[in-house]
Amino acid sequence: MSYDFSHFGCKVFNDRVMRDKLSKSTYQSLRRSIDEGEPLEPAVAEVVASAMKDWAVEQGATHFTHWFQPMTTFTAGKHDSFITPTREGRGVLEFSGKELIVGEPDASSFPSGGLRNTFEARGYTSWDCTSPAFVREGTLYIPTAFYAYTGEALDTKTPLLRSNEAVSRQALRVLRAFGNTSATRVNPTVGAEQEYFLIDREKYEQRLDLKLCGRTLFGARPPKGQEMEDHYCGRIRLRVRQFMRDLDEALWELGVPAKTEHNEAAPAQHELAPVFGAVNVSCDHNQLTMEVMREIAKKNGLACLLHEKPFEGVNGSGKHNNWSLSTNDGQNLLDPGKTPYENMQFLVFLSAVIAAVDNYADLLRMSAANAGNDFRLGGHEAPPGIISIYLGEQLTDVLDHIAHGDVVDQTPSCVLETGVATLPKLPKDGSDRNRTSPFAFTGNKFEFRMVGASASVAISSYILNTIVADSLREIADRLENCADFDAEIQKIVQETVRDHGRIIFNGNNYTAEWVEEAEKRGLPNLQNTVDAITAMTAPKNIALMERQGVMSGAECHSRYEIMLENYCKIINIEAATMCEMARRQILPACVEFASQNARAYTELKAAGIQNADIRALAAEISDGITKAGAITGKLEKALEQASGIGNMLENARYHRDEIRPQMAELRAVCDRMEQLVSAQVWPIPTYADLLYRV
Ligand code: ADP
Ligand code: MG
Repeated sequence: MSYDFSHFGCKVFNDRVMRDKLSKSTYQSLRRSIDEGEPLEPAVAEVVASAMKDWAVEQGATHFTHWFQPMTTFTAGKHDSFITPTREGRGVLEFSGKELIVGEPDASSFPSGGLRNTFEARGYTSWDCTSPAFVREGTLYIPTAFYAYTGEALDTKTPLLRSNEAVSRQALRVLRAFGNTSATRVNPTVGAEQEYFLIDREKYEQRLDLKLCGRTLFGARPPKGQEMEDHYCGRIRLRVRQFMRDLDEALWELGVPAKTEHNEAAPAQHELAPVFGAVNVSCDHNQLTMEVMREIAKKNGLACLLHEKPFEGVNGSGKHNNWSLSTNDGQNLLDPGKTPYENMQFLVFLSAVIAAVDNYADLLRMSAANAGNDFRLGGHEAPPGIISIYLGEQLTDVLDHIAHGDVVDQTPSCVLETGVATLPKLPKDGSDRNRTSPFAFTGNKFEFRMVGASASVAISSYILNTIVADSLREIADRLENCADFDAEIQKIVQETVRDHGRIIFNGNNYTAEWVEEAEKRGLPNLQNTVDAITAMTAPKNIALMERQGVMSGAECHSRYEIMLENYCKIINIEAATMCEMARRQILPACVEFASQNARAYTELKAAGIQNADIRALAAEISDGITKAGAITGKLEKALEQASGIGNMLENARYHRDEIRPQMAELRAVCDRMEQLVSAQVWPIPTYADLLYRV
């Protein structure tokens, strides 16, 4: 049967539904709030709420929830029913404008990084009308921002919305300087490609590490990894195909434009790319995608792993944040365009991005930092902890020529006119793809490839918006006050190349030479989360956040605290899980196998057969038991010690420098045991079971 594409967005209170269900004047006021950020009149909210409830009930909803994104990796919301009992004992459905606009969840159980004490537990959620509401499993989901009693942000959406304002404001100033009078808003656009693993549910359930930590903490390398390069874009197996189909249909109903599905490099690894959209909606969609993936997997007898490194020895999963800026009069500001005017403007916006990324490389690196991503970055699967920009040879060449005031070789077929004598022509499509760059120009957008698979894409998005807003501010200041516009543009581009050219690197980012070269260029190389997140409280970065109205100093500090705390907690849980698995599963299995061998040795000997190998095997296992037992004991003590370290930074360093290495030590011994112990006795599914069972 053919799929009915009219189902796309059928569960979304989108523009079509609004037009249909609201009076013209109500629709227009709501539209002004969505498009121009105008505050919504209470009377309008009342009418919208009622229409939204009626529509949601038609879609099968009995409840509504203020859906928000606290600083965990998950979304949250409590579910209230629409029911209000009447005096006669009937139940009527009610949903007021106030209920639509504000909620008051207890904020005390969400991370706040010291922004709120438990005695001032009140938090608020407020409707974000720029991201459409939708119905899912009998509940009307209302996207909301979540903040404390004091107005300080407790989520990832609030700073994102503030950064949208900031970048729109500054980009419009630059556009006005170019004589654009039609655009009234500049919106960042994002397309978030999502990588993930699918494994058999039954096997997943048998592993405590996967269930509690989302990644394997033990597991010897399987005989086959990804060396055959036969999985990437290979044939999609039947069960996976079914999962992808169910996923697409579930997402389409929710208005998520799921587009491209394929197998990724590692066995059991896959990717989904949506069509890009307005950043705020794309970020919500990505959160939704991750949740729907987990559910659809479960329904299909599978488990979806979104951890950055579920398996050692094969690639981990990331999330590519494709980012650009577009105007509400229809221009992509990072598209070189077709006319001279667009080309000059493009060069200016490009310069803004280059300067921003060089000035705030540390912040961008921070936006991709988490305990899981530390295993990915710097391996041969993801960029190292060094931020650089890939522009492609031709575009770099153009910039270099401008910087030196030279004439560019302009072969007619591959250049676009700028119409300004002093400016060279631009290449039409001069960029090949460079898959190793953390931040690559890909023709009409940048692709930030460092983000981890489980992370909220909102974080890297608000950092990008903010840093580019600040570059644009400086450029706008100059363009608004210059005597000779063309000459000023030339100067801006020249100075960008002179002062920030070091951030441009078109070579292979995965090599040791680049690490050395980057150090010579003075680019920061932040190799782990603990080092990377200090950027959040660097005075220059707090000043930036405050200048752009995206975060206060207190909010920056609170985010830093939360990231440190999360880092410690994650490693703590992983280490405790390892101890439990070692003591209760792996060591008993080893004991069993060693004694099986000892018994066999004695029995054979009684039968007159001497076999020293059996004895040696039993001895090696016994030795392993001693070693693993000792490391487990040491790790347990280290965890105890960690609980006594009051200073959060010291605690994080302790987890990084003491606990993680001990975990690796324990793993090495146990993984060796796995290779020796019989498959019948080994208590947990192996890598081969997990990676090749679907
Ligand atoms: P890749 O080569 O990495 O697979 P694609 O060219 O297929 O990349 O595009 C990847 C993502 O970029 C898609 O989600 C796409 O919708 C998104 N994208 C395309 N144009 C833009 C844009 N102007 N702004 C943001 N994202 C975009
Ligand atoms: Mg990509």
